[in-house]
Amino acid sequence: MVAEQIRARGVADSRVLDAMTRVPRERFIPEESRHEAYADRPVPIGFGATISQPYIVGYMTEALKVEPSHRVLEIGTGCGYQTAVLAELAARVYSIEVIPELAARARGTLESLGYTNVLVRTGDGHDGWPDEAPFDRILGAAAASEVPGALVAQLADEGIMVIPVGQALGAQELHVLQKHGDTLATLATLPVRFVPMVRARER
Ligand code: SAH
Repeated sequence: MVAEQIRARGVADSRVLDAMTRVPRERFIPEESRHEAYADRPVPIGFGATISQPYIVGYMTEALKVEPSHRVLEIGTGCGYQTAVLAELAARVYSIEVIPELAARARGTLESLGYTNVLVRTGDGHDGWPDEAPFDRILGAAAASEVPGALVAQLADEGIMVIPVGQALGAQELHVLQKHGDTLATLATLPVRFVPMVRARER
């Protein structure tokens, strides 16, 4: 998977490739879809959510430029796979999932694999995690119509955020943003397809 789907498509950061080689992706996927764990596409994980395509995880993680000292906020834990990749690279990962059952399952999987630098909580990612802000890096795994203001506020100065923007399917772009004081510069974009970032009360 790492060689054919990720390195071959241009993800070159060896720390990212090594992290993805270490994390056992199949452990995050429910039994009934496990045979598809290394497929080149998103795979259903229940509750209408999907585990992201491996290449997208590689692209987003490389774009985030995570350093070992970093505190990272993730929105949309899902099965916890991307969370584990971030935990391999960062000092600490704070991850928010709106569906309690998915949060509980991801927490269990991450614990069983021995990750001790991860906190998963149930909540609405639009609000971020004010008690633990600021964050050096923020990764969004669900698409918002615009970048939530709370996330911009909780990003450290010079911090990087990678997040899909736009809610209409087929009209989403992954944005790579960097904060400089009061401005947010766009570093890169890529057309993508993510589940929408829902409001907690809509569920
Ligand atoms: N990186 C995850 C992707 C999961 S899909 C993985 O590879 O497994 C996106 C996830 O975002 C879903 O689990 C969905 O429930 C969650 N989500 C949607 N809206 C959210 C919100 N407002 N706050 C937190 N999580 C949200």
